[in-house]
Amino acid sequence: MKTLIRGGTVLTLDREDHVLVGEDVLVEDERIARVGGRLTEREGPFDRVIDASGRLVMPGLVNAHFHSYDRFHRGMWEGLPLEMWILCVSPLFQAPLSDRGATARSQLCAAEMVLSGTTACVDNMHARSMTVESLGAEIQGYVDVGLRVGAAPMIWNRPFTRTMPYLDTIMPQAERDGLDRTPPSVNEILGFHSRLVKDWDRREGRVHVMLAPAGPQRCTDELLRAFASASERERRPIHSHILETKVQAVTARELYGKSMVAHLRDLGFLSSRLTVIHGVWLSREDIAMLAEAGATVAHNPICNLKLVSGVAPVPRLLEAGVNVALGTDNPSANDTSSLFDSVKFAALLQNLDGPIPKAGSLARTALRMATAGGARSIGLENELGAVEAGRRADLVLLDLGPLGWVPLNDPVRQLVYCENGSSVRTVLVNGRVVVDEGRLTTIDLRALREEAIELARKFMADNQSMREQAERVRPYLEEMHRRAVAQDLGFSAFPPPRFGA
Ligand SMILES: [Zn+2]
Repeated sequence: MKTLIRGGTVLTLDREDHVLVGEDVLVEDERIARVGGRLTEREGPFDRVIDASGRLVMPGLVNAHFHSYDRFHRGMWEGLPLEMWILCVSPLFQAPLSDRGATARSQLCAAEMVLSGTTACVDNMHARSMTVESLGAEIQGYVDVGLRVGAAPMIWNRPFTRTMPYLDTIMPQAERDGLDRTPPSVNEILGFHSRLVKDWDRREGRVHVMLAPAGPQRCTDELLRAFASASERERRPIHSHILETKVQAVTARELYGKSMVAHLRDLGFLSSRLTVIHGVWLSREDIAMLAEAGATVAHNPICNLKLVSGVAPVPRLLEAGVNVALGTDNPSANDTSSLFDSVKFAALLQNLDGPIPKAGSLARTALRMATAGGARSIGLENELGAVEAGRRADLVLLDLGPLGWVPLNDPVRQLVYCENGSSVRTVLVNGRVVVDEGRLTTIDLRALREEAIELARKFMADNQSMREQAERVRPYLEEMHRRAVAQDLGFSAFPPPRFGA
């Protein structure tokens, strides 16, 4: 199958940042076969020719951190710190969803992402009952839509109330018992992972099973070591929520008597396959340890602001040579799945350091996080992230007609500062046209919309008793939060106030 993308402005994002004007890209089957120049019928015949005149051709965006499990909660909250927001959406406080419901929910997520130019995402899925069937139902939604997915089921095996400080003294035993269910054994978890790999990894060249201990404080050291060994043995990426909030930094000191990152280094958990999700509360020493290990940080600027977590030290990470990827995070903590908004925030937040010189363009740096940075985070650094011969054909074509592009002065800056995903016209994933002139080619979006509205209504009704439980424990978490944020860590992830007290 040969697809010719003819005469576009090609933002290659290759090593030399070539921008080609009025040139061609040839796709053969799943890969990019040729970039640049004008192809003639001699290189054909072509099965399909896409006219890219007036279009920007770029590598698809990689959303390095996302959760589908709260997709029905969009727009419901604001101003809640993570530890309180989690009571509203955590899988712990969700009633079971049918397999069909889980598939439709993933379809909704995948459709929204691909229509706004994302071609791959890591979904930290809710491993509902830890069966391959239930997780497979979630992955199926991505397969149906045609988005590339890092299937990363969140796993934990420590009781909920021991993942935060002080709750053992603040919360009555009866409430703690109601929350702390018997965790699965490490062997059960590893068995689940193996079955998932066997059934789903590399499905249609677009499913990539990953390892995802939910967060170090939510896992025993034994489980963290087991995940690190599996990652090394299988050369498999591992993603974990690390130091998203100040409470988590305080938790690490309570649990380990040292920083979370120092503990992970001592366990042998840090590696070049690790993606630290968030890394908002990293100290200078933590950053040095991550740089030494060659780890990635998945930056989620909008979610971190919305959940009052702070601002990740991205300029310091880049200065130290840490790879930075970009994610949207939860649908109810962002609340858009278009990665373009996050790219803009990632560019602009670098200025919070004040007018100190940065290496290179802020816009280009942020765009690289959303392409090559994310590709490396999911272990596909040689396959995705650039328009280059030999790479997978995950490509996006944007219309340069909308007024944000007029006049076209700098494609990268206009992409980062003017675009929100609405100019996306055509999307290829693994060589297959998934969006054609703004329309999804793979599923019936109108039918999905109707089904999703009905599913969400039923889901919210089913969750009523869980919400009541969450409301009962809220005061204890608020007290825990108040105590934890009063601690002095010697640094802060919030910009210093302009005026003193
Ligand atoms: Zn997350």
